Parts: sequence; structure tokens; C-alpha cells
Amino acid sequence: MAASVLAGLAGAAGPAFASRDPLPWRNWSGGQVAYPAGRFAPDSEAALVDWLRAGSGPVRPVGAGHSFTALVPTDGHLLVLDKLSGLLGHDPATLRATFGAGTRLSDMGAPLERVGQASFILPDIDRQTLAGAISTGTHGTGLTLHSLSGYATRLRLVTARGEVIDLSEDADPDRFRAACVSLGALGIITRIEMQNRAPYRLRVRNWAQRIDEVLEDFEASARAHRHFEMFPLTHSDYALVLAIDETDAPVNHPPPSPEEAAAFDAAMRKWLEVPPGERRPLINGMAEQIEPTEAVDVSYRILSNVRNNRFNEMEYAVPREDGARCLREILATIAERKIDVVFPLEYRYVKGDDLWLSMDEGGDRAAISVHRSAAFDYRPLFDAVEPIFWKYGGRPHWGKLHTLGAAELSRLYPRFDDFRALRAELDPEGRLLNDHLRSLFGT
Ligand SMILES: Cc1cc2nc3c(=O)[nH]c(=O)nc-3n(C[C@H](O)[C@H](O)[C@H](O)COP(=O)(O)OP(=O)(O)OC[C@H]3O[C@@H](n4cnc5c(N)ncnc54)[C@H](O)[C@@H]3O)c2cc1C
Repeated sequence: MAASVLAGLAGAAGPAFASRDPLPWRNWSGGQVAYPAGRFAPDSEAALVDWLRAGSGPVRPVGAGHSFTALVPTDGHLLVLDKLSGLLGHDPATLRATFGAGTRLSDMGAPLERVGQASFILPDIDRQTLAGAISTGTHGTGLTLHSLSGYATRLRLVTARGEVIDLSEDADPDRFRAACVSLGALGIITRIEMQNRAPYRLRVRNWAQRIDEVLEDFEASARAHRHFEMFPLTHSDYALVLAIDETDAPVNHPPPSPEEAAAFDAAMRKWLEVPPGERRPLINGMAEQIEPTEAVDVSYRILSNVRNNRFNEMEYAVPREDGARCLREILATIAERKIDVVFPLEYRYVKGDDLWLSMDEGGDRAAISVHRSAAFDYRPLFDAVEPIFWKYGGRPHWGKLHTLGAAELSRLYPRFDDFRALRAELDPEGRLLNDHLRSLFGT
């Protein structure tokens, strides 16, 4: 075992590396585990192409392993793109920049700032790889802001047979729109060009407010702020609210207080000691004590957070106009059924796009997430909530837990069958499929 671990470490630093031992792989939450036959970490696109052309077994590309669904597990080979990372080029005229696929989102902000650019958005955390994030339609918050996939302008795909394809809106709009959210099912993405903007500073404000009040004004608030979202506290009348806007104010960003985070964790543990039906006064009382906070910093230091508590998550994107009703029904169901959960929900808007498998395809969506600590069984909560999402025409986040298969998904996505046909054309042997993708695509 020690030898395998050392071999793995060597792979992280040395040239193109292939391991043969079944080192276990697990995702961020620990809910997905696999024993791949090996790992291949190419140090160049050419090495990747040669490796794919020389082999024939199943492969799955992996990013940072932050998806909750079984997109990555394989008993074939894992393809690790960590060495194809970093800023590869930029254009000061168009404010576009190209990154290696394995670049962590957290490693993009500073290099972009040095060349006079900044990302339009980032998700709640920034440990994901760029390719992994766009492959599932990862998004942030904002009525005027797309998911990260919506800012991709060009990408390079290496098919399972080792063919290299450059895709862009201009050159091949259909295949480009399919590849922008493609779950690692069309090929291996090696580089991505993103549309950026000039660097900017943001002011974030957090406070606690009654859920009914926030929902009543949500449309106006979402229009008034660049980013506006809330984290409703289950079994309570309150939500934590977050508004972010551009500012010229000087940087003033106190480091996150470990004491405050520990106090919130301790409070959540205390709530768990009280039966769910009796928690409301306790949680309301705590929410009423929460002091508003404020911080100003460059955009990429404000938009993402650090999440140390491991959890599992289900998220669906429902049409924006149905978001508030759907959220209210979920909160009422959790309360009526006394479901034992203390993790806050998350409620945010994402701007619509025209990418084939984007959750936001065809119009703006409200993304609603429910979380359950990784220490507990998520099924009682997720099983109760998922049918409510279906009622409102929700589309599941590809990276977050859901139970839908090809039959339901083909009704939710107008271009689903086109995607399936393109997948079969680019990977006729199905090398990139695993059990989860087979169930998603009905292959
Ligand atoms: C704590 C936490 C917070 C999160 N917050 C948000 C959020 O705010 N908003 C949101 O939308 N999502 C969020 N997510 C979900 C997460 O952003 C997505 O699941 C994302 O896909 C994970 O990226 P990754 O690099 O870990 O990719 P992985 O999970 O490793 O892989 C995701 C998919 O990308 C494919 N892939 C990876 N690399 C390549 C490549 N080079 N070529 C082709 N395919 C590839 C994989 O095969 C897989 O299908 C969060 C997840 C966690 C754990």
C-alpha cells in the first residue's frame, strides 16, 4: 500500500504517469467510492492523445471530485488533468483567456488580475477544476449572470479515440453548445477559453431576515443587487441573506472568524438535540441575534467561500417564476414531516442560456439546494423533497444527487436526443460511459 501511495505522489509531480494499482478514489463528500484499475495523468495533450489511441478500456475524466453524483466512478482508468493547468494565453482586446482544463477555479483569479481580467462569476466554493465545473453547468448567483459554462467561448476536446476537436460558437455552434455542459461524456476537455471582464471589487453584506419578507421582495432585490441569495434555516422563520454589489470602496476584508464558524456549528449540534417540531423558537431566537456583516475585496476573494463541513446535496433548477412557491412547499414539507435536518437550504437565480444540457437552457431558473451532513443518511430528506422539484418542472444539477434517468431527462431537455446522438458519434465504443452515465443516457 505504501508503495502505491508513493507512486501516486510521484505521479503528481513527475512526467506523464500511469498507476496500475486499484487505489481507492472517493468524492468530496465521501458518498461516492471507486476502485479504478489505474490512473493516467498526462503532462501534455500529445501524451493524452497517444494514451487514448493506444488503449481501449473504460476511462473517466476527473476534476476535483466535488460532484455528489456518480459521474466519475469507474473500474477502468481515471484521467487526471491536474498537469494540464494554468493560464495558457489571453487577449487584452476581447478580454478572453485560455486555461488548462485542470486549473482550479481558485488558481484563476490572481493570474487573470495580472493580465487585466476577472471572471464574471464563481460558485459558492472555488476548489473545482474549470473543466469539471463547466462540465456540470456549475453556477453562482445573479439574475444577469450565467453559469460558468455560459462564459466559455472555445474549448478543445480529445475524443475517446484520440481525435482532437476545437469547438467554438463561430466554428461549430451546435457541437460547441453540446460540449459546454457535457459530463465528460463527449470527450476529454484539455483547454477552455473564457469570456472575462475588467477586474472589479465587490462589497458583500450578510444578515438574517424573515423568510416571508425576503421572498416577498426577492424579485426586486435580485434586480437591485449583482448577486442576491438566501439560505433558509429549516424549522425556523429565518434565512441568512447575502447581497453582493460592485464598489470602489477600499479593501476591507476581515479574515473569517474560526470562533464564529465554531459557534454556528455548535448551535446546529444543539438544535439536533431538540426534536425537529420544537426547534422553531430556538432557531428564531438565535437568528434574531445575528449581527449583519460586511466586507470589500477583489471579486474572486468575495464570490467563493470555504466549506469545511462535509455534506451531501440535492439541487434542482426550477423556472424562475415558480421558485418561491417551490421553496415554500419544500420548507412546509420539512416542517410538517418533522424531517430531522439543520443544514440551511440555498436559494438563488441563474440567467438562462442556450446550451443543450444546461439546467438554465431556455430561460432564467431558480436554483434550490437541500443539504444533509455527510454523517447522516440523506434519503429521508431528499426522498421527500425531490417529488416537489418534479412538480415544478425542475431540472437536477448534474453534479448533485438526484434519481432521474433518460426517460425523464429527455422530457426536460429539448436537445437531449441530439446530445445522445452526438455522444454515440464521438464515442461509439462507449469508453467514456460508466453505470451512472448509462442510466442518464439510457445506453
Ligand atoms: C462544497 C461544494 C460546493 C459546491 N458549490 C456549488 C455551487 O455554488 N454551484 C454549483 O453549480 N455547483 C456547486 N458544487 C458542485 C460542483 O461545482 C460540481 O459538481 C463540479 O462539477 C465539480 O467540479 P470538479 O472539478 O470537482 O469535477 P468532478 O466532480 O471531478 O467532475 C465533474 C464532471 O466533470 C467531468 N470532467 C472533469 N474534468 C473533465 C475534463 N477535463 N474533460 C471532460 N470532462 C471532465 C467529470 O467526468 C464529471 O462528469 C459544489 C460542490 C461542493 C462539494
